[in-house]
Amino acid sequence: MKEWMKNVRQVVPYVPGEQPKETDIIKLNTNENPYPPSPKVQEMCSRIDDLRLYPDPAASRLVDAIADYKGIGRDQVFVGVGSDDVLAMSFLTFFNSGRPILFPDITYSFYDVWAELFRVPYETKALDEDFRIRPEDYYGENGGVIFPNPNAPTGILMPLAAIRDILDHNRDVVVIVDEAYIDFGGETAQSLLADYDNLLVVQTFSKSRSLAGLRIGYAMGSPELIRALSDVKYSFNSYTMNQPSILLGAASIEDEPYFRETTGEIIATREWFKEEMRGLGFTFPDSRANFLFVTHESVPAREIFEAARAEKIYLRYFPKERIDNYLRITIGTREEMERLLAFLREYLGR
Ligand SMILES: *Cc1c(COP(=O)(O)O)cnc(C)c1O
Repeated sequence: MKEWMKNVRQVVPYVPGEQPKETDIIKLNTNENPYPPSPKVQEMCSRIDDLRLYPDPAASRLVDAIADYKGIGRDQVFVGVGSDDVLAMSFLTFFNSGRPILFPDITYSFYDVWAELFRVPYETKALDEDFRIRPEDYYGENGGVIFPNPNAPTGILMPLAAIRDILDHNRDVVVIVDEAYIDFGGETAQSLLADYDNLLVVQTFSKSRSLAGLRIGYAMGSPELIRALSDVKYSFNSYTMNQPSILLGAASIEDEPYFRETTGEIIATREWFKEEMRGLGFTFPDSRANFLFVTHESVPAREIFEAARAEKIYLRYFPKERIDNYLRITIGTREEMERLLAFLREYLGR
């Protein structure tokens, strides 16, 4: 081995879902929103100017829009380049005790990657046999807690009382609730911010606001947590948020009717799709996200995944213990789901 190799940081990177180059596909593998962003975002596109100048390092226009919309102080909002950036900064900022942080065994597969990258010790806690998070698993001494709500890739929503229970048993560490999918019918933990200054709630524009391509995420928390995050960010890169993201993100926040209409549409499609899938012999946890995590009574998930892919229908398959007979299917438009169902009926001979 070359001597300098010993000083190279070795990491096993996160593997994102496929982004195929072809166009005539049905893409249900990365939980993108099937609808375009608000028309107000498109309008604002033509008014982006001043790209010659550095953007506002505090991204105040976007922070203010989020703070006003959520009814919290601007000192309670931190924005980043997608919630992945916000979460990575949070690992770096808050998980420094040397004690293991805790998260579920089946969850967003970026958590263990950041823990490895930043050398944060961690322990995973097994979901129960119905894929539920058990709050009591998070009672013991630890260096912090993080979980998505609804959880990914299961879609299961934890009630607010269970989150409060986890917080009550973790007053001395930071608890992060990753609410990437909360806008599809879940109840946000935002209301708990008033009672817990160690709670960080992280949300994103990527799923419910159809802006995965823009990269905007944000955290809500106590001014102390937000200040600590900002200090780390300014020690890393002052200009993470580019000018288009700041302006277009603010424009999206300002179109509440469109947001309600499109998320409502996805929820309705999901509920109808659940019934159709039951009829085809699939079972799944009751999802409150924009995807369904399904297993079939007789046909292995991997086979369905590959057969669908051959028909240019992209689903997500995780070759991981406990979930390697499941498929995660993003809720697209009604028409896309009809086409998937037609394929499944034919493939399963139903
Ligand atoms: C999609 C997702 C994210 C990251 O989304 P960004 O596009 O980076 O905002 C974070 N957490 C979970 C659980 C997700 O599914």
